[in-house]
Amino acid sequence: MQFPENVTRLCGSRKFSFGCHAGVKCFTECCRELELSLTPYDFLRLRKNLALSSADFIKQYIVIEQEESDVFPCFYLGMVDDGRASCPFVGPAGCKVYEDRPGACRAYPVGRGAMLGADGRQQEIHVLVKENHCFGFEESQSFSVAEWFHNQGLADYNTMNDEVMSLLQHDQIRQGARFSPRQIEFFLLALYKLDEFREFVSGAEFPARFKIAEQDRQAALADEKSLLEFGIGWLIKTLFDEG
Ligand code: SF4
Ligand code: SF4
Repeated sequence: MQFPENVTRLCGSRKFSFGCHAGVKCFTECCRELELSLTPYDFLRLRKNLALSSADFIKQYIVIEQEESDVFPCFYLGMVDDGRASCPFVGPAGCKVYEDRPGACRAYPVGRGAMLGADGRQQEIHVLVKENHCFGFEESQSFSVAEWFHNQGLADYNTMNDEVMSLLQHDQIRQGARFSPRQIEFFLLALYKLDEFREFVSGAEFPARFKIAEQDRQAALADEKSLLEFGIGWLIKTLFDEG
């Protein structure tokens, strides 16, 4: 695989030097001019941090786009029109949503690519992205990918993103399956409108209509992460007529 000049593959336990803190001269420079797409779990964490409903979060912060070649709509964090296209959450003291910042912000300068192989098994690659504006590479600490991901609290993000991948890279999509407006509504509901999905799942007719056991429904309603995990599985069953 050919990478751009500033991108190198990271294999195994190979280490890289990196540090990011308020003392670096480029502090917050990377929080501007971004095309930051949000996974459903990024969306969940940010929305909870801001204590907003899904509808209000979308209205205030999200740009939804769907190119002709996209199977599903994509959610992007809208940048601020301040002449620098800043992230809406960056301030002089750094990230205002640091505890719940998106997975891509946590992983940077590492990029993670995960895909399902033809045999259905997951493959994962990691790359190091060196951008001119970033002086973090001059810091003395060094990390392997596993150490960096642990340091940045990425475990839940990667797990949840991999679950979404089993939907987005489903065999039927690779074979050309496309969806009706009603099915796209289900996609948005289960992945990005969890407060509305909760009401839908709580409805009296839900278990019989979708053949869901009551105990599974109650487990799904326990918290938002459980509801999202349930929603991913429910979408796979519903969109691909499985089970
Ligand atoms: S969410 Fe936080 S870390 Fe990510 S770009 Fe915005 S300010 Fe920077
Ligand atoms: S540009 Fe690099 S070192 Fe500077 S704040 Fe961003 S990640 Fe940290």
